[in-house]
Amino acid sequence: MNNNKKLQDSLASILVFPLVLTLSLLSVWLMLKSGLHEGIAVFAVLLPGALLIAILERLLPYRQDWNQSDGDLKTDFLHMLIAQITIPRLVKPALLALLVSSVGWINTTFDNGVWPNDWPLIFQVALVLLIAEFGRYWVHRAAHTYIPLWRFHAVHHSPNRLYWMNAGRFHPVEKVFFLLPEMVPFILLGTNVEAMSLYFVFNGIHGMFQHSNIKVRLGWLNYVFAMTELHRWHHSKLVRESNRNYGNNLIIWDLVFGTFFWPRDREVKVIGVYNPDYPKGYLAQLKAPFQGSLDKPADYKQRPKYYENKIKQECGVLVEEKV
Ligand SMILES: [Zn+2]
Repeated sequence: MNNNKKLQDSLASILVFPLVLTLSLLSVWLMLKSGLHEGIAVFAVLLPGALLIAILERLLPYRQDWNQSDGDLKTDFLHMLIAQITIPRLVKPALLALLVSSVGWINTTFDNGVWPNDWPLIFQVALVLLIAEFGRYWVHRAAHTYIPLWRFHAVHHSPNRLYWMNAGRFHPVEKVFFLLPEMVPFILLGTNVEAMSLYFVFNGIHGMFQHSNIKVRLGWLNYVFAMTELHRWHHSKLVRESNRNYGNNLIIWDLVFGTFFWPRDREVKVIGVYNPDYPKGYLAQLKAPFQGSLDKPADYKQRPKYYENKIKQECGVLVEEKV
């Protein structure tokens, strides 16, 4: 690679995420200002955003082999359709109906709700992020800690490559759990539609970038965003590496609660779950959490040491690393 191309690539790696995120937020804000319905506006930004991110994976790949389909496209398309598009549209009205009495109580008590609607919009979105991320951090951490929850979350960790569509790979049951901290506090607080729409665009663009095969370099911003350089470690096959960086959009709660992980001297080697034969089809993945710990090979319980060493070898960490 010549020096000019190298410079272009490194500049693109630094700028690509902040630029696409800013443009996406600006676009949805302008659409809302022009009176477009929030559901249409969010979709009108995320759809071309997804296409752009898929193209950027070709132009600025992190790993060439991760651009090759693993027979996962159909499964991930169905996950995207069900978990990311259908489930939120079902959960939101259900939560509204359930919480309507609480909203009424808060509105009566605090005059128009307690949300700071007079703050500049950018601060309101930052506040939504801080609150939602706190809840998501603990739901995500619990999903890695408690086996019944992990069986659902293993669906998300099962792919052997990272690309933008992994952002949608969630079991529908787990997706409901993740939506609760993103919706309940804001229904109760009376957060306005504008701030929530900007949050969902932020969440969508960040999520697709976070799982993408784009070479993103964020420097000090890795202490703010839960972006690729950190999130790839979260998908490592090695549990002591993947039980870190739980942040969905922001990494702040990992910094606060001691799960931040960013080895600068090496890259993640192997991602996925222990079982190379984890179900790959959509329906098989829906059933998987109810069929035991399919993320582990069938004979794992008989020889756990063998598998632990095998994974360590694959991940190249037989020598104790500094954490
Ligand atoms: Zn996880």
